[in-house]
Amino acid sequence: MSINPAMPHNDTKRDMTASQPSVLLAEDSATTATLLAKYLGARYTLVHVHDGAQALAHVQQDRNVGLILTDINMPNMTGHQLLVEIRRSKDAYINQLPVIVMTDAEDNTDRNMAFMNGASDFINKPIDELELQARINVHYTLANTIRELEASRQALHHQATTDPLTGLKNRREFINHAEECLALHKRYGTTYSVIMLDIDYFKTINDSHGHDTGDKILVAVSEILPLLTRNVDTIARIGGEEFAILLPDTNRLGAAVLAERMRSTIEDHDFQVGGTRLKLTVSIGIASQDAEIVDNIGDLMRIADKRLYLAKELGRNRIAVNNEGKSSYTI
Ligand code: GH3
Ligand code: MG
Ligand code: MG
Ligand code: MG
Repeated sequence: MSINPAMPHNDTKRDMTASQPSVLLAEDSATTATLLAKYLGARYTLVHVHDGAQALAHVQQDRNVGLILTDINMPNMTGHQLLVEIRRSKDAYINQLPVIVMTDAEDNTDRNMAFMNGASDFINKPIDELELQARINVHYTLANTIRELEASRQALHHQATTDPLTGLKNRREFINHAEECLALHKRYGTTYSVIMLDIDYFKTINDSHGHDTGDKILVAVSEILPLLTRNVDTIARIGGEEFAILLPDTNRLGAAVLAERMRSTIEDHDFQVGGTRLKLTVSIGIASQDAEIVDNIGDLMRIADKRLYLAKELGRNRIAVNNEGKSSYTI
């Protein structure tokens, strides 16, 4: 019978300097520990601690543990108590660790309690070498596979929702967040606003300074916008040099104030790219749920977009808050 524990790979959450995750052995008997080290040592890095308290302290500071193998009767903290502490931990890495409990073959009480407390498996003492290796291999491999799946799920989610150049949200994720605002509006009557922002004459920046400089300007703008908004706002790059900002719980007056602050901040900013100082302006259109009769996000975005192009037509470097292109709500 050949047993090959899976070697972890592409898992950024792990200590990449370590060749493979270790097995943490909690066992107070030196004789048993020596025997288990003989059984497992060739295949796994074994970390031996003498009681449950030491095991718990160890997993709290060593992220390279891949599985816990624990005795039950130990001083300070028993294997049962250790298992309870592991499963109730708020740290997802700790509470999802596979735990195999070594129980007494003659008594089902410990085995039953171990399962009730969330043990991944049990193994009877005296320990059979092949059985131990097989059980550890199954749980160790399964836990690694789950971790890798979770890491790739997170990477895929990030890819699907993020603009790679600026790290801002992309159009699809902007619409997802806006749909949530619309759902809250329909249920509770809360309002929200959408800002569409487009860089003026961006083509001339590319033409005069090159595409790389253009890219750096886009990144610089993406770094300015979060300084002006709240954590709950969503800032997205929804096109080449076009940004959209979603403002939950913000009415048309609040949105107009923020849009004007964005416009003036960018106008006043000195963009420094490779030793060159560049000036930039933006045009902005806004639309707010409290000012329009719309029941879908697409319509509200189209209204904001139409006003953005009105702001362009009226001379650029300005905001438009309504279909006449007014730039504020006063007068
Ligand atoms: P307007 O004031 O009417 O908005 O003029 P504009 O030149 O900004 O608009 P236009 O739509 O004519 O051109 C947008 C330019 O943005 C053209 C395109 O090459 C550039 N662009 C789009 N995406 C990127 C990008 O990712 N990087 C760079 N550097 N440029 C981009
Ligand atoms: Mg013991
Ligand atoms: Mg433009
Ligand atoms: Mg554009």
